[in-house]
Amino acid sequence: MEGKKIAGITKEILDKCVRCGSCRQVCPVFNVTHEEPSVARGKIFLANLINEGKAELDREAAHFFNLCTTCLRCAEICPVMVDYESIIISARALAVEKFGLPAEKKVAVKLFSNRKFLEALGKFASPLTKLITKKSRSPQNRLLPLEVPKLGKVLLPQLQSRPFNEKDRWYPAKGKEKGKLLFFTGCMFNNFYTKTAENVVKVLNALGYSVFVPREQFCCGAPAFFSGDLKTFEKMKEKNLEGLSSAEVDAVVTACATCGHVLKREYGELPFEKFELVELLFENLEEISKWKYPGKLKVTWHHPCHIVRGQKIPRHYPIDVLKVLRNVEFVEMPESDNCCGMGGSFKLSHPQISREIQLKKAKNADSTGAEVVLTECPGCVMNIAEGLERVGSKAVSLHIADILADSVE
Ligand code: SF4
Ligand code: SF4
Repeated sequence: MEGKKIAGITKEILDKCVRCGSCRQVCPVFNVTHEEPSVARGKIFLANLINEGKAELDREAAHFFNLCTTCLRCAEICPVMVDYESIIISARALAVEKFGLPAEKKVAVKLFSNRKFLEALGKFASPLTKLITKKSRSPQNRLLPLEVPKLGKVLLPQLQSRPFNEKDRWYPAKGKEKGKLLFFTGCMFNNFYTKTAENVVKVLNALGYSVFVPREQFCCGAPAFFSGDLKTFEKMKEKNLEGLSSAEVDAVVTACATCGHVLKREYGELPFEKFELVELLFENLEEISKWKYPGKLKVTWHHPCHIVRGQKIPRHYPIDVLKVLRNVEFVEMPESDNCCGMGGSFKLSHPQISREIQLKKAKNADSTGAEVVLTECPGCVMNIAEGLERVGSKAVSLHIADILADSVE
């Protein structure tokens, strides 16, 4: 049987897997399905068969390669450090080449890669969505008025009528300037969580950074990249690199785990460093220890997959920040680094499995008695907010910048 091979994935890469099965213990998808093709070992076995010409990448195989949140828990536990992320992206790329994007992924990729369309939709639909949806306990989010069979409550982030990066803007540092940063906002902050984007800027300014928010920035390309639509991803990357390469700043900062991971993994060398917000917060612990949240607050933390495993940022960074913030009590949730179930478009393609993973996360967060579940990724903020609604928790889901902005001196 001679079919097309998965490009860039050599026998050496695939043969690294010793089939030990450790990845079965940590895979959130396998935890729900208990089926071998859900887990890294099964997918690597399948990739090997395809590349050896013993099987074809047919629609069923494509389905199995999509059955993954790309949380990278398998890659982290793997004793031989199999490059699972490259294998899954390349396998998905071959699936897209053969069959095109599945419908739900096509919608996500088209929506986020077309800035004009997303902004026009915001202008037109934003007032309408406020009319037909209900407020969620977690701010900047809305709930559909009716529950959806088998899913329950459905939450959507509030689409804004004006994007955050409407035009080029400089926000000057408070006091002596430590450096100039370009804030790579990403689509979720530009079009949905604009209040959080303001809060990120406020926090960075208070820490002594001047912040530049350029108009000419686009979706980082993550929805296309993780779906295997590498042509669209390359186009998005090229568009962004034009603006990024000529910016006169000391560093670029993101406050979205996935944007940060994609920028660091796929954008190559830039004329300046790339930071995730939490890295800059950790560098400024002393300054943050002077800040005080207005009123006592008990919080817990969800580690986004693309921060702790994608970017390998130490888990203690955000915890140390929360521990020095006055009036804030930090309490750790069980399995704080397990995936929230979002996985980009995984939530759309596998709503039931995603829901099971999400409910586990929400129950773990709720068990701490925290009033706020914090994280540093707008996708996780949204999915956890929905999970908290579904389990009837009183807690709300926020981005770390939201409580820091309220605490700034
Ligand atoms: S943990 Fe690594 S070596 Fe073990 S089965 Fe999974 S991918 Fe293969
Ligand atoms: S990336 Fe996550 S969901 Fe995908 S196979 Fe690995 S552990 Fe499972």
